[in-house]
Amino acid sequence: MSRTLAAVAAEASTCTRCRLAESRTQVVFGVGNPHADLLFIGEAPGFHEDKQGEPFVGAAGQLLTRMLGGIGLRREDVYITNVLRCRPPGNRDPLPDEIESCTPWLIETISIVQPVVVVTLGNFATKFVLNTQRGITSMRGSVYGWHGRKVIPTFHPAAILHGGGEKSRQFADLQDDFALIHATLTRSATPPEDGGSGLAGHGEAGVGVAPQPSLGADEQLELF
Ligand code: SF4
Repeated sequence: MSRTLAAVAAEASTCTRCRLAESRTQVVFGVGNPHADLLFIGEAPGFHEDKQGEPFVGAAGQLLTRMLGGIGLRREDVYITNVLRCRPPGNRDPLPDEIESCTPWLIETISIVQPVVVVTLGNFATKFVLNTQRGITSMRGSVYGWHGRKVIPTFHPAAILHGGGEKSRQFADLQDDFALIHATLTRSATPPEDGGSGLAGHGEAGVGVAPQPSLGADEQLELF
């Protein structure tokens, strides 16, 4: 029988699999609906997240919450997590061995939440999840098939705030991407006329990666 997300988070709270355990205030596992259709993956906790124990609570988190509200969702309707669960010192980029150590927590999270749509926030999460070297500017705006789910990459809210803010071209793109997220969720929830699940296949325009079969939990451990 699979574990609950709360049980996994409790175990992760004492994780010492990588060096970040030495400098963190606490493990930031994730927050939201453990059975959400929509799951967000950012990069790693920052200063405020490390202090409060919740992902996306600073200014970037407030922008994410506003973007969710724009498509009729609350934070508690979705699940929000990161590639890494502990803050890298000085917010430096995650190192490869840290990612490798933390990946099982992310895989188990996805296996339990079973989201229909995964949104990768920023370059780092997008390159990691979709195993690509392409940057976020060229990846965003499309839906990618990924192990029976759909991935929609978009800008990290912090990049918007550090860039031109809400008057920037990137913010307009972010708004377009949230409209795409909403449309994709709505389409996925609508049964096709042949009575199927509505989730099979990924034939929509803009799919940039070949559709992949849905995987069971054990197989998902091989995802990365
Ligand atoms: S970053 Fe991940 S693997 Fe490293 S100590 Fe934190 S929870 Fe464990």
